[in-house]
Amino acid sequence: MTARLIDGKAIARGIRDRVSERVSRFAPGTVTLAAVEVAGGPGGSAVYAASQKKCAQALGIAFRRVRLPAGTGEAGLLEAIDALNSDPAVHGILLLRPLPEGIDTERAACRIRPDKDVEGMHPANLGSILYKETGLVPCTAMAAVTVLRSTGISFEGLETVVVGHSEIVGKPIALMMVNALSTVTICHIATADLGAHTRRADILFTAAGVPGLVTAGMIKPGAAVIDIAINSVKDSDGGGERVVGDVDFEAASAVAGWITPVPGGVGPVTTAVLMENTVKAAESL
Ligand code: NAD
Repeated sequence: MTARLIDGKAIARGIRDRVSERVSRFAPGTVTLAAVEVAGGPGGSAVYAASQKKCAQALGIAFRRVRLPAGTGEAGLLEAIDALNSDPAVHGILLLRPLPEGIDTERAACRIRPDKDVEGMHPANLGSILYKETGLVPCTAMAAVTVLRSTGISFEGLETVVVGHSEIVGKPIALMMVNALSTVTICHIATADLGAHTRRADILFTAAGVPGLVTAGMIKPGAAVIDIAINSVKDSDGGGERVVGDVDFEAASAVAGWITPVPGGVGPVTTAVLMENTVKAAESL
């Protein structure tokens, strides 16, 4: 069998078109997304911030980057978040990570007002998934499930396996799939025999961050495979770097029924969902 490829870029385009239409109902330049960061951290957030800014601006969303000086501690960051929380011109707030050492990321994320928490990391938004995604759902989890929905598969009664149990990816995906009446297993680093679980999966999500973790022999023939991971690996010639997921894509494509590429699968949809959450936040304020 040759798997059908799920085109994340096309799905993202569709979401962006709908977001752009919703943003156009506001006065030009009013819907605002603020990205707060602390200079001098481990780095790595600049590339994401640049692509988020480009995407926001293309949709008519103002992108306000709030750069706190190097050496800003947790108290300073919380103060900046409080100011954005109470600024009526700001509709969405995102926290650029990784933060410098000594700042508790979870505490900072929880300080963002739930109705401005467009990344969906606040416990109030995570908890709302129990009630069928009424709040702002974590972008990557929503993107992964949206990508799966694009196949038209009815999830009811199917076996879903989620590899990865993080708060913003694996756990919310598992809850959303339970809401859709799928039977869900969550696997993680301490799972004894990963393949025994994945081989049962009609739907397999993987978000471990381990290149090559999921081989073709671990996939049920015909399964939908949604690879969320983004891993940088060295090219075989030792030259540059390239991005791969957790799944051995070439071999898995011969077994799966549906598969996402990396890059070009869940990634672009995640950014589009961030914009969708921003306009949703603006509409609700
Ligand atoms: P995380 O480090 O918080 O969680 C990783 C999870 O994988 C944990 O549950 C861990 O137990 C599990 N795991 C690790 N090694 C494993 C193994 N050998 N076997 C089974 N389980 C294993 O990571 P995260 O923030 O959830 O991100 C996961 C991946 O998703 C990363 O590759 C990240 O880059 C990617 N990601 C992608 C997007 C996107 O837009 N596509 C967004 C966020 C994160």
